[in-house]
Amino acid sequence: MNTHTIDHPPRVPLLIQGEWVESRTSTWRDVVNPATQEVLARVPFATADEVAAAVASAQAAFKSWRKTPIGTRSRIFLKLQQLIREQMDDLAATLTAEQGKTLADAQGDVFRGLEVVEHAANVGTLQMGEFAQNVAGGVDTYTVQQPLGVCVGITPFNFPAMIPLWMFPMAIACGNTFVLKPSEQNPLVTMKLVRLALQAGVPPGVLNVVHGGEDVVNALCDHPQVRAISFVGSTAVGTHVYRRASLAGKRAQCMMGAKNHAVVLPDAHKEQALNQLLGAAFGAAGQRCMAASVAVLVGDARAWLPELAAKAQALRVGAGRDNPDVGPLVSCAAKERVLGLIERGVQDGARLVLDGRGVMVPCYPRGNFVGPTILAGVTPDMAVYEQEIFGPVLVIVEVDTLDEAIALVNANPHGNGTALFTQSGAAARRFQEDIDVGQVGINVPIPVPVPLFSFTGSRGSKLGDLGPYGKQVVQFYTQTQTITQRWFDDAASIGKVHTTISLK
Ligand code: NAD
Repeated sequence: MNTHTIDHPPRVPLLIQGEWVESRTSTWRDVVNPATQEVLARVPFATADEVAAAVASAQAAFKSWRKTPIGTRSRIFLKLQQLIREQMDDLAATLTAEQGKTLADAQGDVFRGLEVVEHAANVGTLQMGEFAQNVAGGVDTYTVQQPLGVCVGITPFNFPAMIPLWMFPMAIACGNTFVLKPSEQNPLVTMKLVRLALQAGVPPGVLNVVHGGEDVVNALCDHPQVRAISFVGSTAVGTHVYRRASLAGKRAQCMMGAKNHAVVLPDAHKEQALNQLLGAAFGAAGQRCMAASVAVLVGDARAWLPELAAKAQALRVGAGRDNPDVGPLVSCAAKERVLGLIERGVQDGARLVLDGRGVMVPCYPRGNFVGPTILAGVTPDMAVYEQEIFGPVLVIVEVDTLDEAIALVNANPHGNGTALFTQSGAAARRFQEDIDVGQVGINVPIPVPVPLFSFTGSRGSKLGDLGPYGKQVVQFYTQTQTITQRWFDDAASIGKVHTTISLK
């Protein structure tokens, strides 16, 4: 982290009460292009007063926003999806510059967020309550889904478009106001999306943005006016956020780290299985929470390892803007961490079938590149199996049977995603039924649901019952009020006092 006094590169503003505000902090961090180390901007670590001002702005805006008609709220997201489509190329280019992923993948990042915006324009029916007439004589009961108030989103570096779009559109469409805390590593595309949201008609104060790290996050977890926190990021930080926010009486949903197993049966279509597996392992340089980071080769599928390695070796590594197969890691620190873990794997006895450590990318000598790397002979006690590597490293575990594969996956603490490659319907059905993982792909390597459904990672990958986007997040961002009503149309109870609790 650097402290700067000069005015260039540009400073990323805060958004408070509809105004772009320059932070008064003395702590700034560089936003760096991972392929070149060029400093693109500087992001502030907001002060406590600025965080308080953002929450106060959201709290004040809630007063009228909660009463704004559902249709009016929805139409903003109808407009936002159009603006995002029009700006797709610019958004993707910004994302690639600050995050490193390939342009094609950056478009995918924006697109998966856009799908949630489209859904946010459509969630009127999900906000409907229930009604039962005559629950007692002349008594009716109905429920309404009321917005909570100020909701907060804390987002990670790896999907700087999609994940903010998982959060604020749905919260706001449900009648809440919002304070967003983007990743301090790459907030630029997120800020462009926020600008588009204002342009689409989000009123002042309904959406606010603060930047920072631990102190800002803690202040948001503690703030008495914050009612709910959505977090996506690492397990250590998510666990901390969940505990701290829950202790302060807030709703919290924390989507966290993963170790996703792709199980390959020998009856799978070899070519398709290997291609899908490699895309899921090395796409986005392995920096996806749903990356297939462990391949479990079952029985005779072990023999496919040389072909898997040859295909991985053929993947092109380069700067995201040149649209290779694999871009750089997000930071020098991330690269050092990944290299350290590869070394640790070798020391622990894994076989380095493909070594991507020495990869050179012409014209980008300073990029944080690591080439596709495969470690075989991995066992569950090794660090490369126990830890989320979050880099282009695929570890191979070999087992004899599908039962062994299922037991292995179920013994792993994480439950974000898993996939099975097979041509057997019976094997697929058994895998689906017996596997204790929240998102399952059958011949689909990264089974991230579209927003008709919700993101349903489980066990160690998630804290909180309800997932982001879809029907579940409407429940998360609203509270049920139950109204029991009676309108007297006769004189039956006049003059009588009822001291019993029964309604008849
Ligand atoms: P991270 O936990 O380092 O950061 C996430 C957010 O927490 C950022 O906004 C950051 O500023 C904040 N933060 C960082 N340190 C903090 C601290 N000590 N106290 C309070 N707040 C802090 O995560 P990351 O490295 O940006 O993202 C990668 C991780 O996110 C991976 O573990 C990945 O699996 C996970 N992830 C999970 C999902 C999912 O849906 N399960 C999706 C994407 C990413």
